[in-house]
Amino acid sequence: MSRLGLYVHVPFCSSICNYCNFNRGLFDPELKDRYVAALLKEIQSSPHAARPADTIFFGGGTPSLLDASEIESIIGSLRRSFDLSQDAEITLETNPETVDREKLEGFRAAGVNRISFGVQSFQDDELKRLGRIHSADRARAAMAAARAAGFDNVSLDLMMWLPGQSVDRWLANVDALVEAGPDHASLYLLELYPNAPLKEEMARGGWSLAPDEDAADMYLEAMARLERHGYRQYEISNVARPGRASRHNLKYWTDGEWVGFGCGAHSTVAGVRWKNVSATEEYVNRVAAGTSVVTERRHLSHDERLGDALFTGLRLCEGIDLEEVGHRYAVDVWSRYGEALRPYIDEGWLVRRGERLSLTRAGMLMANEVMAAFV
Ligand code: SF4
Repeated sequence: MSRLGLYVHVPFCSSICNYCNFNRGLFDPELKDRYVAALLKEIQSSPHAARPADTIFFGGGTPSLLDASEIESIIGSLRRSFDLSQDAEITLETNPETVDREKLEGFRAAGVNRISFGVQSFQDDELKRLGRIHSADRARAAMAAARAAGFDNVSLDLMMWLPGQSVDRWLANVDALVEAGPDHASLYLLELYPNAPLKEEMARGGWSLAPDEDAADMYLEAMARLERHGYRQYEISNVARPGRASRHNLKYWTDGEWVGFGCGAHSTVAGVRWKNVSATEEYVNRVAAGTSVVTERRHLSHDERLGDALFTGLRLCEGIDLEEVGHRYAVDVWSRYGEALRPYIDEGWLVRRGERLSLTRAGMLMANEVMAAFV
């Protein structure tokens, strides 16, 4: 039986960013209290209780808006319900403006051992354009406070291909990241959903996105620069210092199992995938009434599970072991997909070495096209 990853969703934010399509809402202290109580109740009654688990990930929203005592209660409840490893990785997504050294010390005392900062940019005009409420200096101060509070596993998110962002401006952000010195970093492309308010602001401000070739240069040069500074890329969007890859997120990419708690949280266990109701109030009310919070539950077919294992595994730089996946799903992977994948090998986007199949860095830019072969 594999060890579970445990995900806890915290849907509250101090303000709403103009590009954000996550499951979140404005912070409301009264609703937050009821939400934490509901989380504790959902955890206690989990049908997967007693199973071994080795990661906890507080995601959001802005989990760092909770008090350290609330984080401690939730971790305590997970410990009582699951067989949590002594060395479990416990991550808290944190927005820089919500913390100082004292608050971070509280989180550390509560059991958190990994902080993931949503920095997004080290340039104040870019942050304003995104509707973020921290400054670059505040982000640097939060990083320093995390170190002072004793965290030796700190991650930082940056977004690239922002409206009006040139390649040079992006690379200045990468240099600032290197200077800040996190142990792990995630570099995401800004994706704009159809009605994102940022789209209107872009039109008003006359900001456009750099051409696709520039976006490719941004990605390739960032990865090269980070590697020169001791980071190893291990996934399409993620780099880490040795031993600091995200153990929780690796479960999503290695065909692992996870249980999510809170509104909108997803879970996948033993080929069954389910999702909790998205609306915070409805989630709280359902828990209080003792009714199920699950809105969608699906048994994945054999082919869907195989497709997912290949699709997500290919996000990793080490790629997939065709023999191992084939053994797990009783199928000859190459006989089934080899013909569809051959053109990508010829193109230089995919490489097969023995039983290992992986994307080249150029192929990572074309990942969606390549992965379509599996779905
Ligand atoms: S802080 Fe994160 S979750 Fe909250 S609105 Fe901004 S992008 Fe969305």
